[in-house]
Amino acid sequence: MQSVIIRAERVEKYYAQPSENRIQVIAPTDLSIAAGEIVAVLGPSGSGKSTLLRMLTGLSQPSAGEVYWHEKPIATADVNVSIVFQSFALFPWLTVLENVEAPLKARGMEAAERRRRSLKILDAVGLDGFQAAYPKELSGGMRQRVGFARALVVEPEVLFMDEPFSALDVLTAENLRSELLELWQKKTIPTQAIFIVTHNIEEAVLLADRIIVLGRNPGRVRTDFKVTIPHPRDKKTAAFTQLVDYIYKVLTQPDTQPPALPEARTGKPGGAPKQHYQMLPHARPGGIAGLLELLLDHNGKDDIYRLADDLAFEIDDLLPIVDAAQLLGFLTVTEGDAAITPTGTEYANSEILRQKELFRSAAVENVLLLRQIIRAIEAKSDRSVPEEFFHDMLDEQFSEDETLRQLETAINWGRYAELFDFDASRRRFIQPEKLTAENDNQATEEIDA
Ligand code: ADP
Ligand code: MG
Repeated sequence: MQSVIIRAERVEKYYAQPSENRIQVIAPTDLSIAAGEIVAVLGPSGSGKSTLLRMLTGLSQPSAGEVYWHEKPIATADVNVSIVFQSFALFPWLTVLENVEAPLKARGMEAAERRRRSLKILDAVGLDGFQAAYPKELSGGMRQRVGFARALVVEPEVLFMDEPFSALDVLTAENLRSELLELWQKKTIPTQAIFIVTHNIEEAVLLADRIIVLGRNPGRVRTDFKVTIPHPRDKKTAAFTQLVDYIYKVLTQPDTQPPALPEARTGKPGGAPKQHYQMLPHARPGGIAGLLELLLDHNGKDDIYRLADDLAFEIDDLLPIVDAAQLLGFLTVTEGDAAITPTGTEYANSEILRQKELFRSAAVENVLLLRQIIRAIEAKSDRSVPEEFFHDMLDEQFSEDETLRQLETAINWGRYAELFDFDASRRRFIQPEKLTAENDNQATEEIDA
């Protein structure tokens, strides 16, 4: 067990209101940060991530409870932390070097020593040669590098970051993230622990040894687990994508208890290789509806062979439809009998719009590939993703023919459920027309918050 550096005990935050009521921002929470770990905190905006970070650093006082720094109340302890914010407020009238020296100067460090330390850290974060530049001459990515240098130059025992990469473009963020990870892993910096707030699931899975997911109203820890995938982490491995998918599910189902973690999260060898993607049965939504209606006529349950007979179907043609209906939770199969479920019954009895709705939630709930496509579209500013991207992931598991069939079925299901559209001429998954305006608003809110 690594030693605990910061420990929050039953910390709470609430804001007084003119009325009797108070706004509870953080419910009583226990949390500790130990030496050797990178902790990532995820949660919807307004769930209190920044508030929690400020309390853990000693920047803000909890309304109740206590934060301890090496087991001493934080208010009286000799705290050594730095914080990197989304936009780092650099002094525009100071050069890069002077900006980095500023916190050391504030600590009363002698000139030669603070210059030596500042130059060393500027070198480590790739700012060699930019010492004399002024912030306004730098790109956003370079400015954030200065932010990192200024945070790291004091050699903080714990480095806190609040969405440090979210104002940067994707490539710059990726670059800076891996450089930070390298400094940490090679122990170029003496920092003992890192606490990062983010709203980027992949970022959390790339960096963290431990991930905490907060829920809101009031802010509280919904789940807190270790990530044991070895570094360097590859976004394309099953362990990685399964964990991203798991967290996505937790975040999009704020009212349910988080399910058990996927087994493959360790990414350790041993045991049977897990199939990452389920094989989508090649069935059309219309066929599924037809089968369910027929089952209803048969009192909701019948032998699969007899159903095939009734439909004048070959069993091989019927099975994918049965499999698809089963995958979607519309029917169950035991000993050759197909039995319709309550959702299946509702589906068979509904009008087309309600059918689409039921199909949509069943598909999102049960089909990993569809969830990944939706998420990828949401993550892109132009709301479009090339088919090739998913082709490359699928063909690690399926033959070329099967990969194409999987994509065809996913496109079919996604279009029917209005989850996404597919632009066949550009071979890109795109957001369905009429949802665009609504989703754009959501995206803006998220960024504003
Ligand atoms: P996050 O960083 O997860 O987006 P914050 O920690 O910034 O969330 O805020 C959590 C909640 O606390 C928000 O709902 C916000 O409106 C509320 N809040 C923050 N500061 C105050 C304040 N001074 N008075 C009242 N409510 C506040
Ligand atoms: Mg915040």
